[in-house]
Amino acid sequence: TALRNAEPWHIHLADEQTEVERQISLMGELDVAIDLGELEVVYQPKLDLKTDRITSVEALVRWNHPQRGPLRPDLFIPMAEDANRICDLTLYVLQRTIDDLAAWCQRGLVVSAAVNISAKLVYSNEFIDKAKRILTETGIPRNRLIFEVTESATIDDPSAAVAALQHFRDLGIAISMDDYGTGQSTLTYLKQLPLSELKIDRSFVQHAHEDANDALLVQSTIDLAHRLGLRVVAEGVEDRSCLTFLREAGCDLAQGYLIGRPTSPEEIREMLTSHTSL
Ligand code: C2E
Ligand code: CA
Ligand code: CA
Ligand code: CA
Repeated sequence: TALRNAEPWHIHLADEQTEVERQISLMGELDVAIDLGELEVVYQPKLDLKTDRITSVEALVRWNHPQRGPLRPDLFIPMAEDANRICDLTLYVLQRTIDDLAAWCQRGLVVSAAVNISAKLVYSNEFIDKAKRILTETGIPRNRLIFEVTESATIDDPSAAVAALQHFRDLGIAISMDDYGTGQSTLTYLKQLPLSELKIDRSFVQHAHEDANDALLVQSTIDLAHRLGLRVVAEGVEDRSCLTFLREAGCDLAQGYLIGRPTSPEEIREMLTSHTSL
């Protein structure tokens, strides 16, 4: 009956408290999750629409929590960003990606791999120095690595963004602008940044084959991006008709559940050796 008499805000408060407690305990556990081997890196393929081959993958982190089961990054990445643990986490993902990339390359497979870089790290000297150290220790060709940076990371101070991204470019790493369309930046502004690739956000891609406005947005983004010399990736492709639309629109690469869900390095190796039938 106590529960029945409780005002909605009582319940809300109680929920909030457990949520905060949950977050605090998770944050502590994240500290040791890397050492305990609980973090896993999976890869989602990107399909080259000209050759019908998987030519690139994106590294996505997973946390296999011993009690809570697999946790998606949306739950713990923002926490890690707040607590300044994102640097170690990203260096771990980078190292894993380089190791897997090296193994694929050793089998003669031609593939590049992208790592997600939080806005905070774009401006972190500690991250750049440590990433540089990892990169100089590996034998993989530098031009096989892509850093995906979200649009929001560069919006505040364009000249600072150019300088920061140039550090990565100096290491031979290509920069991809992630989640394009969700921020306020224009393609003209993007021209100033040292980019190689643009990823159109899933929210525009998903209905492009059935919504005239989205179709127009996606088509004009592709056209303008090409004029700026950028390769275009469409993310969140779930439908065959969406893929057909993107092919006709001249999009370079497609990524999404239709092409493949994030998966193990072993399965990626098998995908890389075969033609897709999409
Ligand atoms: P993102 O970089 O935009 O990655 C794409 C997300 O969309 C992934 O979710 C992916 O599994 C999901 N996705 C891919 N294809 C489809 C599709 O066809 N339909 C739908 N509905 N979803 C699709 P995930 O793996 O849960 O990652 C979520 C976000 O967490 C990522 O968004 C990225 O911002 C962040 N993240 C993941 N791994 C890392 C990492 O290692 N470092 C950092 N800093 N962030 C990461
Ligand atoms: Ca991404
Ligand atoms: Ca994205
Ligand atoms: Ca996204």
